Parts: sequence; structure tokens; C-alpha cells
Amino acid sequence: MSANTSRQQAIQQITNRKPVPIKKTDFLGEIWAEDVFNLARMEWALSKTAFKAIKKTVHTGEPLDAATADVVAAAMKEWAIAKGAKFFSHIFYPMTNITAEKHDGFIITNADGAAITEFSGSLLIKGEPDGSSFPNGSLRMTNAARGYTAWDPTSPAYIMQTDNGATLMIPSVFMSWTGEALDKKIPLLRSNRAMDKAAQDVLKLMGETDIAPLNSSCGAEQEYFLVDTHFANSRPDLLLAGRTLFGAPPAKGQEFDDHYFGAIPARVQVFMQDFEDQLYKLGIPAKTHHNEVAPGQFEIAPYFEAANVAADHQQLMMTLMKATAKKHGFMCLLHEKPFAGINGSGKHVNWSVGNSTQGNLLDPGSTPNENLLFLLFCGAVIRGVHLYGPLLRAVIASASNDHRLGANEAPPAILSVYLGDQLEKVFMDIKEGKLSETAQGGEMDLGLSQILNFERDPGDRNRTSPFAFTGNRFEFRAVGSSQSVSGPLVAMNTMLADSLSWIAGKLEGEFGKGASKSEAVITVLQELMEDHSNVIFGGDGYSAEWHEAAVKERGLKNIPTTADALPALREESVVKLFERTGVLSPIELESRFEVYAEQYVLSIEVEAKLVIDMAKTLIYPAALDYLSTLASTGAGLSAMGVDLDNSAAKVVADHANAMMAAVSKLSAALSQDEFASTEEHLQFCASSIRSLMDEVRGHADVLEAEVSDALWPLPKYQEMLYIK
Ligand code: ADP
Ligand code: MG
Repeated sequence: MSANTSRQQAIQQITNRKPVPIKKTDFLGEIWAEDVFNLARMEWALSKTAFKAIKKTVHTGEPLDAATADVVAAAMKEWAIAKGAKFFSHIFYPMTNITAEKHDGFIITNADGAAITEFSGSLLIKGEPDGSSFPNGSLRMTNAARGYTAWDPTSPAYIMQTDNGATLMIPSVFMSWTGEALDKKIPLLRSNRAMDKAAQDVLKLMGETDIAPLNSSCGAEQEYFLVDTHFANSRPDLLLAGRTLFGAPPAKGQEFDDHYFGAIPARVQVFMQDFEDQLYKLGIPAKTHHNEVAPGQFEIAPYFEAANVAADHQQLMMTLMKATAKKHGFMCLLHEKPFAGINGSGKHVNWSVGNSTQGNLLDPGSTPNENLLFLLFCGAVIRGVHLYGPLLRAVIASASNDHRLGANEAPPAILSVYLGDQLEKVFMDIKEGKLSETAQGGEMDLGLSQILNFERDPGDRNRTSPFAFTGNRFEFRAVGSSQSVSGPLVAMNTMLADSLSWIAGKLEGEFGKGASKSEAVITVLQELMEDHSNVIFGGDGYSAEWHEAAVKERGLKNIPTTADALPALREESVVKLFERTGVLSPIELESRFEVYAEQYVLSIEVEAKLVIDMAKTLIYPAALDYLSTLASTGAGLSAMGVDLDNSAAKVVADHANAMMAAVSKLSAALSQDEFASTEEHLQFCASSIRSLMDEVRGHADVLEAEVSDALWPLPKYQEMLYIK
């Protein structure tokens, strides 16, 4: 039996692995944001007037005049060139989950042929990549392709250092020549604006006079797997699909719970240090890292930032993570479910809204007035999740996240809100009218005192909830590890804007009738709770009872697949929501449906082709090799008078045949290309293609457990998951 599969070679190479040496960590204060053109650096480099103008733009999002843009561009160029940059790039975020960049040199030549550098305000402000080459959902054609990138001054420019040199990166929006958003940043900025406007209305009605612009905040916890590159390189499925399409369950999985918060393997520690030093230089506040539940799985969480900056930083983190992992001999898997039967990876999006004058509006605070504002904003979230649950499900829908949602270690595919016992009781009391009795002598503060004593960390945590209040923010836990945080942030900001507008209207009505502030708040929240309390759930979200009760008694939707989820983007109420708030026009929203639907179909088709290819060219040949070994040794042994048990050969032969039969069915299904609608095509992928892929895999995984280890070509789960 030959023992020279690429898997065997990988195992041999890995035994010689040592941590890759890295430069000793510098003092944090020295490296922090050293590659960022932030406000501090601008203050140093710009005139007082120019700095005042750019600072205002950064804080309020107001446009910058051309003259100041020129001054900023000149200072930025000088700084970047001094740091070794020869190129600059508008970096933008197309409708995929990745980032895109087009690099231009600072260089031009003058009449004498000498090299000089050029970088004007207009080059800083505007770039012109081809709009049709990125997913655009019919918004751009190749014959009407013009697209623009435009500088987003609210997210700082920075230098990207790679082995190939340094590049000045300019965070940008990406739009079509006709002005439609082709990216994930424009809707995020617009959703902040819509939320700000609605929140201001509520705050004004509540008597606040000094109100700074409101912004949303985001702190995203990123889970990921590391697999040694020697193994990853012999798994075409990991290389091309980011997950294993085959693989029998390991003898030792995560059932011992011995990985979570355990000691971090040495090579991984060095990787983390290297990665985090780069983040610090880029001004990304990496705060927490630890092992996750599954072997080979880890988490990194930065400290929260303004949502727009956090979203850019999140994208940058994903890019850097993959590149740095490679340097350390790992493949970084951001896929939501790289290994069947093993814990998947999510990206918990912690989110809140606030400003510099009223503070964090999802923090209960310590005075009755803060309490009232908190109750209104928290109520607004409850209403939003109830009305737009299917939208929240749609913005986290992807072929890869479908494997994780609803499985027994991840939030269910039913959107509900967890408030914690204390806060749930407050809202239920409001619903029952218990807080509406006015205390003798006027100001009603009866139940509100309960909130005054509200504990920020209500001991218990409900990890089974997809959307949980965690003391001073909400945590959207159903977001997938490979996804951009922008979609979820847009949906949350927009639903909040909608609810706050509704609340403002109602408050106005109550004040018109002469109600006091607390009376008005309680009356409005009582009505809100009557309509929307069904979405509040504090129990076990993984349980079968909840899956039944949520749908039958609460009227919530269980939306298991992307095929079921994406049509929410076409629902009248959602189209109207985005149009009313000015976040996405109907055609912009429709283009997103088309892009996401296409991505879903494409990623399932790629996986299906890989399944066919790997089954035919790797797994079937291994099974045949094994059968012929059995046959030849069998003949030899029986010549020697030894009786051979033929049952093993029969199992292998049966499953090899059955696997190839399933492969044929899958090939036939893949060639089908006539569908009445996009929705029908999505459903076909979700049900027919996926189940045929599972059928092929079922047989292949049995073969893995039967065929001689020496002949098995693909690295096995226990090998890939336990890092040395
Ligand atoms: P967990 O206990 O959920 O694992 P972590 O400490 O790992 O918590 O992550 C919590 C995340 O929530 C961090 O990124 C943290 O900065 C962020 N966070 C804290 N406060 C806010 C807030 N007001 N808005 C948004 N994110 C926040
Ligand atoms: Mg968390």
C-alpha cells in the first residue's frame, strides 16, 4: 500500500513546524495609529482654518469645500510619501462581503521627463473605477459602466504596509454615474443620518435642547478557525469554498469543552501578536482574544467605535487576518461552518446609538430623565425587531450562514429579543398598565425607580438569543463570521429610525393632550408593547418548544434558509421602509436582492461542482485502490489458506457505487437552468442541490471510516482541528 498521499506529506511537514519569529512588540503608545492620517496628525499638518473645516466634516458629515480638500490632499500626500508610499488607492466596499481597491501612483512626469508627484483635492475626493465589473444588480451595464468612488472623510485614511510596499488607502463610497449606491458604505451613512434625524425629533419632544449629532456604534466580535496550510493546501474544498465538503466526525470533537478559554497554542499566540500589532498601527483597538468553543477556533474583539469606522475596520481586519495567518503557516477560515458537526463561527455585532450630549441612549443611566429616554429607545428597538424581523434575517442570509443558523449552537433562524429578567419585567409592567398610575402629588416615578437601580450586568446571559440586550447595547448574534457588518447595521439603524419616528408622532399626540413627560412615555410604550411584546423572549431559543411556540403562538417567522429569507427585501413594507427613511431607493434595494440571490446561487453551484470533482477524482479512486488492495492481498492470503472477511470490501464497494450514483444525479441537477423566477432558482439550490450534495457526502464519509488510513487522500477532521 503506498503511503504517499498529499495528506501523508502534509502530516510529515507539520511535525517540523516552529513559530515564525516576529519583531518584538513595541511599546503600545509608540505604535498606536502610527499609520493613520487621523485628526491629531491633521491638526499637526494643517492650518488652523483648514483643520477646523475638516474636523467639522469628520464630526458632522458635512461636505468639505474644494479649497480645504486641496490643502488636506497636499498634507496627506506629504505624510504618505514620507512613510514610503508610492501609490494611493480609494478603498471601497462593493455589495459582496469583500473590499475593493484600485491603485494609482503619485507619480507624473513634467515636460523635462523628470518624475514629480501629484495628488490634488480632486484626486483625493473622486476616483473612477469601472462600475460594471462589481456586482451591481443590473444598476450598471458594460455599455453604461461609469462608477465613481468618493472619499469618505469621516473614516480616516491610512497606510497599508505589505511586502510589496506601502500604499495610501482612502476609505470611499462607491456609486454609479447616475448616483445609485453600489456599495455597503453609502446605505450605512444614510441609515445613520435617518436614525439621527428621527432621534433628534424624539429628544426635542422630550425637552432636550442641546443635542449633538447622533451616531450608531459597533463592536464586532469575530470568530475564526486556523488550519495549517499544509493541510489546507491538500483540501480543494477549503481552498475554493472555505469549508470542508467532506469529512467524517473526529473521534475527539469539542465534547470535552477543553478548548474554550484554554491555553492558546504557541504558533497561534505568535500569529495573534503579529496581527494585533498591525491593528494597533492602523488605529484599530484590538481588545480581547481567546480560544473559542471548537478546537482550532478563536475569537478577536476590538473595542467599539462609530459604526462607519468600525465597519471599515472590520473589513480591514478580515483582510489582515487572512494575510497574517498565511505568514504563520495557517489558513484563516472565516466561513460560518467550516466543519460539519463542529461549532460554527459568528460575528456578534454589538450596537448602540448615542451622542456627546445625551450619551449612550441604550444605557439606562441613573436619573429618571435618562431612564425615560432609555425606555423610549429600547422600546423603539423592540418594535423594530418585531416589525422587521424578516429583514434582519435577510441581511444576515448567505449560503454559508445557513449552515450555522438554527443549528444547536447558534441563534435560531427566528428573530426574537432578549431583555433579561429585570428589564423584561419593566416592559411587561408597562404593558399591563402597572406603571401608569400617577403617584399622589404629580410626578409619576413609581416603576421607574426599578430602572434607576437597573444593573448593567444582569448576571445571567442568554446565549441562545439572536438579539440580546447586554446592559448598555444590543448584541445581534446571528450575524455570520464572514459577513460585512454593514448590512446588519443598516437594518438596525433604519428600523430604529422608523420606530423613533412612530414614537415622535405618538408623543406629540400625548403632549397635545396635556400629558406630562412620564405619562406620555408610558402611554406610548404601553401601546407599543400591546402590539409588539410577542417578540420578547427570555427562554431557551434552541429548544423545540420555542420553535413551535414562536410560530404558532407568537406569530413570529422561522426562516431557515437564504432562499426563504431574501424575498423579504422585496416585501412592500421593507421597500417602503427604506424609501421613507431615504436609506435605499426601490431600485437600489431591488439590486441588492438580485446581487445576494446571485451570490447564493453561485456559491452553492461552486460547492456542488467541487463535490462532484472531489468525489470523482479523489474519493472514488481511493476507494478503488483500497478494493484492489483487498482483492490482491485477499487472493494471496487465501492461497496461504487464510480466510478473509469480505464484508469490508462489500461496504466499500456499495458506498463507492452509491456515491457515484448520487454524483450523477447532482450533475444532472446542476445542468438545469430553466426557472420561472429568481425565487424558484433559490429554492431549487436550497433544497434539491443541497440535499444531493449531502447524499454524496454521506457515502464519502462512510468510505473515510472504511478505507485504509494510508490511502485516504484528504486531511481528516482530527488532524486539521488540533493545531501543533
Ligand atoms: P462578550 O461578553 O459578549 O463576549 P466582548 O467583551 O467579547 O463581550 O465583546 C463585547 C463587544 O461589545 C466589544 O467589542 C465592546 O467594545 C462592545 N461594546 C461595548 N459597549 C458598546 C456600545 N455602547 N456600543 C457598541 N458596542 C459596544
Ligand atoms: Mg458577545
